[in-house]
Amino acid sequence: MKKLLISFLLVLVLTTPAAAKINIVATLPWIGSIANDLGKDKVKIKVLVKPSQDPHQIEAKPGMILAARNADLLMYNGLDLEIGFLPILIESSRNNRIQPGKSGNLDCSQFINAIEKLEAVDRSMGDVHPLGNPHYHLSARNMMLVARGMTQALAGTDPENASFYRANLASLEGRMQKKQSQWSKIPLRGRKYIAYHKFFEYPARDYGFQIVDYVEEKPGIPPSARHISKLIASAKRSGASGILTTAYHGKKEVHALAQKTGLRSIIVPHDVGSAAGINDWFALMDAVLKSLE
Ligand SMILES: [Zn+2]
Repeated sequence: MKKLLISFLLVLVLTTPAAAKINIVATLPWIGSIANDLGKDKVKIKVLVKPSQDPHQIEAKPGMILAARNADLLMYNGLDLEIGFLPILIESSRNNRIQPGKSGNLDCSQFINAIEKLEAVDRSMGDVHPLGNPHYHLSARNMMLVARGMTQALAGTDPENASFYRANLASLEGRMQKKQSQWSKIPLRGRKYIAYHKFFEYPARDYGFQIVDYVEEKPGIPPSARHISKLIASAKRSGASGILTTAYHGKKEVHALAQKTGLRSIIVPHDVGSAAGINDWFALMDAVLKSLE
């Protein structure tokens, strides 16, 4: 009997995982990608928004709430990008660890310097983001800062493995620096583009290209026929080398505009997983800059 009990206990010990993994819930695929590079086998990551979805238009679903209930760390883009689903998700999760102000609530935008902050906002301006432009992930400069902040959060949540996360950060930073020096050599400086949405402002800053006009008259609001005809008239004089958009933003309008102006329409991959082969943030940046080139 005693022997049986011992072997039973032994089986129990052997089948119990050596260490519980940290549960990360990330809103967007790129957040999951960076968190994965830092956490590796010490974390379990659930990404809420699919690469095929428009993060501006997401609603909280029961499966998302369930995932948030078990999260040790909730990592999100911030700057109001997830305003349509995140507050209700956090509240409905009844998970004390991820409530605002708690250490498990990680707004990744706190680590970057947001551009285009607005002093005063009213509805007439469209779906603007007063806290600053929330599309900051297509920038190695921003990602270095976010990765450092994430590492702090991981080390705080799981102090036993803090040195593991810091070592992963060091190798991630090394990779980013190496890639950044390659990316900086892509000749985008001085290039001009028209964009559908204010989605490319950070890479424009980093790599020296310019967005000379927008297909959206106001953010989040489809353009009027009047605005489109104005764009057709000005596009040729603008010196733009293409019209940029993403898979979920105004493909139809951009295609029509391209036909009328003779400019190329360029569908830029917007997040990890949005096209074949884009399996992490590095591959995303490679694909984005290649599409601009
Ligand atoms: Zn936006």
